[in-house]
Amino acid sequence: MQHAQPSDIAARSGRTVVRLGAAVDAERMLAPAVAVMEAGALVAVDTPEAIGRIDAPAVDRSGHVALPPLVNSHAHLDLTSVGPVPFDGTFAHWAAQVRERRASKPQEIAASVQEGVRRSAAGGTGFIGDIAGNFGLAALEALRAAAPAAGIEGVSFVEVFGIGNASARGVEFLRGLAERVPAELGGIRLGASPHAPYSCDDAVYQAAAELGIPVATHLSETLDEVRFVRDGSGPFEGLLKSVGAWTPELRGWACDPVARVLPLVRQRGALLVHLNYLTDAALDMLAVEGRGDRPPVAVYCPRASAFFRHPAEGHAPHRYRELLAAGVPVALGTDSAIVLGDAPAISVLDEMRLLHRRDGTDPRLLVAMATVHGAQALGVARQRVLLPRAGAGGARRLVTVLGEGNGQDRLRRAMAEDHPCEWLGSPP
Ligand SMILES: [Zn+2]
Repeated sequence: MQHAQPSDIAARSGRTVVRLGAAVDAERMLAPAVAVMEAGALVAVDTPEAIGRIDAPAVDRSGHVALPPLVNSHAHLDLTSVGPVPFDGTFAHWAAQVRERRASKPQEIAASVQEGVRRSAAGGTGFIGDIAGNFGLAALEALRAAAPAAGIEGVSFVEVFGIGNASARGVEFLRGLAERVPAELGGIRLGASPHAPYSCDDAVYQAAAELGIPVATHLSETLDEVRFVRDGSGPFEGLLKSVGAWTPELRGWACDPVARVLPLVRQRGALLVHLNYLTDAALDMLAVEGRGDRPPVAVYCPRASAFFRHPAEGHAPHRYRELLAAGVPVALGTDSAIVLGDAPAISVLDEMRLLHRRDGTDPRLLVAMATVHGAQALGVARQRVLLPRAGAGGARRLVTVLGEGNGQDRLRRAMAEDHPCEWLGSPP
């Protein structure tokens, strides 16, 4: 079969043409651009010259920039209903309040996930890596039920705890997980998330890695975690004692969190979430791993890091640019809605904006982080977060956001201002 040439495409009947200020993906910037839609689906995007003579009803979005569907690589949709929980400077206190307030009945969990899906779709999310909290099979099922209508696909990482006295329970839960739960349903794959190095021991990480499903873990998030991994002391020792999980063997691993966990999840494409505190040695270790098979993906949640006041005084800013320069993919995540203030949408677009405004990060690099790096993290085909190309497939929908200016400057403006985004095209 011959593929249609762009100039044929616009001339066919039943199609709509959308004039865009620019269309940008991780590989190309077209400014201006024309999108051709048919029955609510994107057929082609290219320069006006390549699309050719326009013989179809036209929609003017020439003040807008179009992006592929965005990838939110780390969310906690089951916490959407919790509402604001101020941070008093101690992570363990904050987490305890969240545990008290989080939905616990399946119906409440489902309502929270549904609200999270709605706010994610409103934020241009096409793919999500969601943590189904606290052995959260109800959250997994709720996402599988709600995601298709919103056009969202991705992975639900069922969260597991298990250290000290609680380790065996965590391992047992994981061993039965793949048998009890279908690997894929409603566009949402099953994943596993050993919660963090202070709440999961080696056996739990190994059991998760052995399942052969996507794995995500919080890693190197706080200095308390760094301390606990080093010598078993500090607030997390107290927390484990308070929940009866602590055992005298928990005396630390005499290394940093990356050195502790990375060997346990090698070649699994694991999502390593946060990485707020990275030593040079940890960065080198990630860079070496980045050159191997199925390398890990770093996931940075800039607003969450800011909410929890990272970096602590005297520590370096987040090293995402050094990770990228060393060849480690860095995807973006929103973390839970609790840390997003009054933002109406749950969107990595707002994470991109933070990094652009604070660090001056190149908007096109941010587009790559929010699309192809996230797709790699979630095992989504790269094509699906690229603008369509003749014969190569591509995204079936686009996300548009106001960005006035000239040519390439439009994306910069879209990062500098806080306009909401809209979908071009309906869910498949
Ligand atoms: Zn998280």
